[in-house]
Amino acid sequence: MAKDEAKASDFSKGLLKSEELYKYILETSVYPREPEVLKELRNITHNHPQAGMATAPDAGQLMGMLLNLVNARKTIEVGVFTGYSLLLTALTLPEDGKVIAIDLNRDSYEIGLPVIKKAGVEHKIDFRESEALPALDELLNYKANEGGFDFAFVDADKVYYWNYHERLIRLIKVGGIIVYDNTLWGGSVAEPDSSTPEWRIEVKKATLELNKKLSADQRVQISQAALGDGITICRRLY
Ligand code: SAH
Ligand code: CA
Repeated sequence: MAKDEAKASDFSKGLLKSEELYKYILETSVYPREPEVLKELRNITHNHPQAGMATAPDAGQLMGMLLNLVNARKTIEVGVFTGYSLLLTALTLPEDGKVIAIDLNRDSYEIGLPVIKKAGVEHKIDFRESEALPALDELLNYKANEGGFDFAFVDADKVYYWNYHERLIRLIKVGGIIVYDNTLWGGSVAEPDSSTPEWRIEVKKATLELNKKLSADQRVQISQAALGDGITICRRLY
């Protein structure tokens, strides 16, 4: 694959009919509208050995729209890495908006921080270096936080998504949105285990379980969209 091409189809998760189709979506609808600072962050992240973890730009674009649709002012992000989805969120929030960003690894956050500063949105970010679960429980220690958030993006330890869900469903207001990333896990959810690489198995099991539970969860309206690596959008109903 030519170098430029590899860049254009940036870490496709292979969910679409062809790489060309993914490249077409990115080049037609996503990249022309992607803010320069997000491109810059994506390029900085590109050489990171775990660059494939960054949020897919097509999924990011939908996330931006969802943030706007709920007029998000207070949000939570679980899993920051170098900050692609975080910067996107901070750019979308109003001047007085706040995103509580949780990650146990500050070093990767600091890779993207200069770009966040340059974009002039650092004041909207409350970064908490922590395991996700205790950080969410800490938020729930304050009654005022119940129903206090408009939106959450979850992209950390996939095995714990359901535990995050049980906390987030209380933190997000009725009508608010929780987005779970990687819910198709490279398409492995629909393959026999014999075709799934060993390193994917544990998360695959957890993802199959999560998808079933979310489907049965009457507290939320859901939509599982095959963008990026699959995202499940949940809207709190009561
Ligand atoms: N949303 C990011 C990608 C996140 S990758 C982006 O757009 O680039 C997953 C991140 O989750 C990693 O940075 C990792 O450090 C973090 N993580 C993994 N397990 C975690 C846990 N138990 N608690 C908090 N963060 C965790
Ligand atoms: Ca992800």
